[in-house]
Amino acid sequence: MTEAERRAALEAIAAEVRACTGCRLHEGRTRAVPGEGHPSTEVVFVGEGPGMNEDREGRPFVGRAGDLLVRLLGSIGWRREDVFITNIVKCRPPENRDPEPDEVATCAPFLRRQLEVLDPSLIVTLGRHSMGRFMPGTTISRAHGTVRPVDPSTGAGAALVLAMYHPAAALRTPAVEQASYADIGLAPGILDDARARRANAPDIEAGGATADPPEPPPHRANDQPTPEPPALDQLTLFR
Ligand code: SF4
Repeated sequence: MTEAERRAALEAIAAEVRACTGCRLHEGRTRAVPGEGHPSTEVVFVGEGPGMNEDREGRPFVGRAGDLLVRLLGSIGWRREDVFITNIVKCRPPENRDPEPDEVATCAPFLRRQLEVLDPSLIVTLGRHSMGRFMPGTTISRAHGTVRPVDPSTGAGAALVLAMYHPAAALRTPAVEQASYADIGLAPGILDDARARRANAPDIEAGGATADPPEPPPHRANDQPTPEPPALDQLTLFR
């Protein structure tokens, strides 16, 4: 698929999301939030659901949680426009409650189709609901900073997944923010592992590949300055 074809396919899915009345969450939304990002990226971030600011703007991860996500990306030289960012459910749950299982299930085909189009090498989950989709059977406190191969039924069969806390949780708790900087620091090495794994695709199909995370980088103190993003021609998030 060319970049133009991916862009068109993603926009077609977004148009369906904006018109969707498939679950009760459509009743209270101002705007649906399909997700956004570079159509040829290798990295997809998946959060839980839109909050108040996202519902108003129709964009994922705006406001303070979005600002922190940008800082986390900046700490490894990545920019939000070079990845794709979306959520498990595309419409805001009332009062920011957790999405119900039937709402997650009804919305799941949109995310699966987005992942089929994007075919990412790395998925980063943000928060426990997103983690539960890609790493069932564990808890966020155990899973954050760990990596697994992705179940092909999610639509991203050639990807690895890295679990992280939700940035909103990091805003509330300094220890979670520190853990989030350490976890995002693993992402470039895991992306390299994922690329190598894709290059050895027959092993993946045979179930023979395993993904051990690289050693964590040195802890990044919160008061360290965010590094300048690299120039465009230095970015390595694309096919
Ligand atoms: Fe449709 Fe998903 Fe919105 Fe529910 S949350 S109305 S399934 S787009």
